[in-house]
Order: sequence, then C-alpha cells, then structure tokens
Amino acid sequence: MASNMTVMTMGFERAMEVPHGAVDAPDRSSMRVEALIACGTCDLPRTPSAAQEKRAPLASTCTFDSEFRAGLGYDQPASTLASVGVMAAGTGSTASKYVARRETPLWIAENCTQCMECIVACPDTALPNTAQEISTVFRAAARGFVSESESKDLLLAELPAVEDRVRTRMMAGVKEKAPAPFKDLVEEEIGTLTQVDEPTRDSFLEVFRRIPFAYSMTPAVFSSKERKDAGSGGLFAIFVSDLCKGCGECVEECGDKDALVMASAPIMFRVRISWTTCRIRPRPSWVGMTRRTPSSPTL
Ligand code: SF4
Ligand code: SF4
Repeated sequence: MASNMTVMTMGFERAMEVPHGAVDAPDRSSMRVEALIACGTCDLPRTPSAAQEKRAPLASTCTFDSEFRAGLGYDQPASTLASVGVMAAGTGSTASKYVARRETPLWIAENCTQCMECIVACPDTALPNTAQEISTVFRAAARGFVSESESKDLLLAELPAVEDRVRTRMMAGVKEKAPAPFKDLVEEEIGTLTQVDEPTRDSFLEVFRRIPFAYSMTPAVFSSKERKDAGSGGLFAIFVSDLCKGCGECVEECGDKDALVMASAPIMFRVRISWTTCRIRPRPSWVGMTRRTPSSPTL
C-alpha cells in the first residue's frame, strides 16, 4: 500500500502542463479526417479537404485493401509493409503475420525436463503448454479423431485398461532409466486390441504419432505424482502456436537439454493440430496435414 501511494504521489508531483497552441489552428496531424482516405477508386463518403496534403500510400484504402483485405489469407504475398511488421488491426485471423518465418521450433518430448525456460523466454507467448491426465488425452483422441463405428465403442471401452498398462510401463521405464517414448507404448498396447478394427486403431494412433507427450523427465507431472498416488501421473506437452515468428530464442534457452530444434516450414501443419489438441478441441479429420519428414525426430 505504501509503495502504491509513493508511486501516485510521485506521479502527481511530476505532472506538467503541455502547451497545445491555439485550438482553432489548422489541423496538420497525421490522424486528421478519416484514418483511411479515399484514393480515387474507392467509394468512401468523405474526402480530404483540398487544403490538406496528399497522404502517403499506406494511408489509402486501396493500399489497405490490397495488403490486408485481399482475401488471400496465408497466400498473401509478402510486401515491404509485412517485412517491417506493419499489420492492420483486426486482420490477424485472415493473414499470416509472420511471412518471414522459415523455421519453427520442434519439441522433442523425450529430452524435455519441464524447466519452462523456453516458455518464459518466448517473446511472442507462442509456446502454450499443458499438463493433462492420460485418460483425458486418450478420450479426446478417441472421441475427436476416430470415426463413429462399433469399433470405436470397443476402443473407448478398452481405454481404461490400456491406460493402466501404459502407465505401468511408463513407471517401469523411469525406474530402469530406459523410458520408451509415450507414442511407442501406446502403439504397442493398442496393437494388442485385435477386437478393434485396424482403421479405428490407426486413426487413434495417428494422434500420438503426430503429437509428442513428455513424461520421463518431468517428475512433477508424472513420476512424483505416480509414486505418491498411483494412477495420478499425467503427461506434459509444449505446443508451438501460430504466433511463433521463428526467432529461435526458445531453442537457445533450451540449450544442452536438446528438447527444442528448429525445423522447416511444413511443420506448421502439425503445429495447428497440436494447438487444437492442447485445447482438447479436435478437428474432424486429418485432411490437409503433412506427414513427418526425415528431419523431424518425433512427429
Ligand atoms: S522461435 Fe521465437 S517466437 Fe517461436 S516459439 Fe521460439 S521463442 Fe517463441
Ligand atoms: S523444451 Fe527445453 S527449455 Fe523448454 S521446458 Fe523443455 S527442457 Fe525446458
């Protein structure tokens, strides 16, 4: 409380008068009239007064439309404005803000210690992360990414038992210091469900082939919890959102832990799916996604 009052008192003491000149002086500010001025081919109701200087192209409606409202979305060509980060308000959902991005981070779950240094370091808050129950992840994968069928119901009924087996193997791997990747354990256990047809199993497993989950070096989320209360250990995951501009700062911060590397642009397809799954809001299908590349260690 005392420090708040100190700040307020100092603020009052530093208040000063700013001379504004004659209130009826000619308006020569860059924000005069409309924020956007008709360029001659546009149909805006107001036009600048003849006394006003010609505006820069950036402030004309036709430039604005060609840059930000061309309906091209991610196919919008890069321009001088984009290259210096000029972006119109309210257009983020229809245009890529990061046309300069050539690589994005790829997270290697098996090496991650959940130190959170990358997340704190990212200047664009582009690394959403989550700790989740294994059962929640399993259910989301089955309900959201597997087509409706009798086999899907069989799969859902088997998931609690699969979880128990996978969990036991996860803990054994941690104890023996030879943990297998989560996706491998899931793949092996789901593979034993011969009563579930292959397309159903494959759709389910595709989630885990594409989205890595960490447990082996994240004791706060998995092994410590599991030791105290069997069945409570969960999974940790970091996702790369579309806010990423590819600066590589997170990789620098991760350093010798080697849990982040920069990967080429096609990875962004996976990124969009990962972000979706982070929110447990699956897409209806995998249409439009790319397969893993040889340089992608743990897609
Ligand atoms: S590359 Fe840069 S912007 Fe992208 S997630 Fe890492 S720190 Fe954030
Ligand atoms: S990716 Fe690296 S920096 Fe980020 S939490 Fe994992 S170990 Fe830490």
